Amino acid sequence: MLTTPIAIAQALMCAIDAGLERLDAQLLLLHTLGKPDTARAWLLAHDSDALTPAERQRFEQLLRRRAAGEPLAYITGHKEFFSLDLEVDARVLVPRPDTETLVEWALAVLSVMAPISPIDLGCDDGDVLDLGTGSGAVALALQHARSDLRVHALDASADALQVAQANAQRLRLPVKFFAGSWLTAVRGRYRAIVTNPPYIATSDLHLLDLVHEPMQALVSGADGLDDIREIVNYAGLHLHAGGWLLLEHGYDQATSVRNLLSQAGFEKVQSRRDLSGIERCSGGRTKQCDAGTKTGR
Ligand code: GLN
Repeated sequence: MLTTPIAIAQALMCAIDAGLERLDAQLLLLHTLGKPDTARAWLLAHDSDALTPAERQRFEQLLRRRAAGEPLAYITGHKEFFSLDLEVDARVLVPRPDTETLVEWALAVLSVMAPISPIDLGCDDGDVLDLGTGSGAVALALQHARSDLRVHALDASADALQVAQANAQRLRLPVKFFAGSWLTAVRGRYRAIVTNPPYIATSDLHLLDLVHEPMQALVSGADGLDDIREIVNYAGLHLHAGGWLLLEHGYDQATSVRNLLSQAGFEKVQSRRDLSGIERCSGGRTKQCDAGTKTGR
């Protein structure tokens, strides 16, 4: 019966019996009790404290949502990404740890690139552009790590932009957001373009596990590469000479994405592995102006 008092330890056992991972059960219980994710030690220290009937009822509701496959981040309303606490809901994809690979790579290429000289700088230009920003995760992580960069981000979904902008405001990060579908709305040029676009094939069975997230952020045509093809074909027009395009993609798409990049004229085409050792991102650089070009040789 819902009104029977139970202790914290017992509530966690019930959640694990219902099929939840221990960590998820702990985080849901902390959320129920209005405590931060960092308070897991508190749960251990208070494992014989009783939940009030209202707390127990609320916990059981959240448990049912999680057991039905809803991502934990939608239930708690937030997700940590690159040490930033982002607010997320069903309007955006939940930021994945895999995507930290993209951020790290972008920071590495940007750290060795010289700033654009003010003479070459157009009013629409920025340093780095995040295409399909969703919750804003990648753009905000870059801006947080490098306050000197002009970070721009766009999304085709007005809903996603609202989530991203709210995150930027809350975290006081001056990313400039705008609406648009890939590069069609982009006016400026950048030193780097980064993107975690949709890349799952329409027939991929993984989609059955992702029914709570926006399909437009996940699915991209018969081979999952429709959006990546479009981005690779047009990104060069919005990159300075020697600028990098870095893309996240599916676990089995690295070779195809490298081929697309090479065909589009990118140089230094290469991939990076995620935390699970999977080639998760690929990228390439536009041709650099060399001395030969400048002297007209
Ligand atoms: N990596 C995500 C997943 O498979 C998909 C993200 C995406 O399509 N951009 O869950």
